[in-house]
Amino acid sequence: MSEIGRTALVTGGSRGIGKAIALELAGRFPRVAIFYAGREDAARETVEELEQKGVNALALKCDVSDERAVKEAVARVRETLGPVGALVSNAGITRDGLTLRMGGEDFARVVAVNLAGAFHVAQACYRDLLRGGWGRVVFVGSVSGLMGNPGQANYAASKAGLVGLTKTLARELAPRGVTVNLVAPGFIDTEMTRAMNPETLGKALQAVPAGRAGRAEEVAKAVGFLCSGDADYITGCVLQVDGGMYM
Ligand code: NAP
Repeated sequence: MSEIGRTALVTGGSRGIGKAIALELAGRFPRVAIFYAGREDAARETVEELEQKGVNALALKCDVSDERAVKEAVARVRETLGPVGALVSNAGITRDGLTLRMGGEDFARVVAVNLAGAFHVAQACYRDLLRGGWGRVVFVGSVSGLMGNPGQANYAASKAGLVGLTKTLARELAPRGVTVNLVAPGFIDTEMTRAMNPETLGKALQAVPAGRAGRAEEVAKAVGFLCSGDADYITGCVLQVDGGMYM
């Protein structure tokens, strides 16, 4: 069994790490769908780049925290490109603030997108993944979810929750030939990290033994490997792509 002929879905595929993942998967899967939150320009550009790579591509605006919208969007992927054989759940947001000052809404929203959103998408793709005895799920977590990070109680909790979700789904789906893993990036150069203030940015980089930020493409390569036929016997694992930040 292999990825040949399957459809891949990447949430948050319009920009940053998700875009790099979608482009990486374009070399492995003939059909690639992306979900995005609202940046239509970015989504259109990604679709054009995917099509230039010769894949059949589709971008759908879908807030992953909205369970019904997710069900509808996954149904559209199925109708247009066929059942999802590989899901990369990457959509994520931050709303940082020290715990004492963090509003309940900021906590709930981050968990709703990063954790509940990942659950909604995995659930909506579940039956598709079971078809044909081969499937792939990769969740994009974060080293914050493994080591904690001051100012990120909401984000770290959501990403730690993804580890439990990964291992549970891995156990449920392994007997059916579906692997479920989590890639935990460290500090990666994207719009998300470019939005940080220079002082926080400098401190974060000091904590990276490799001495530099990672590139989105470096995360995408790890995801691509886990989605390939070469990773059939790897499931329930957490793979850090972090330049040694957490060890
Ligand atoms: P980014 O540049 O901010 O891109 C976020 C992507 O997620 C965009 O495609 C965005 O769509 C989409 N998105 C946001 N909210 C969504 C929602 N509610 N529903 C559907 N899509 C949504 O982020 P990034 O840096 O590439 O991060 C990607 C993933 O890696 C996230 O899960 C993040 O937590 C994780 N991560 C990043 C780093 C890092 O250093 N950058 C480190 C560790 C983990 P629009 O384009 O429409 O806004």
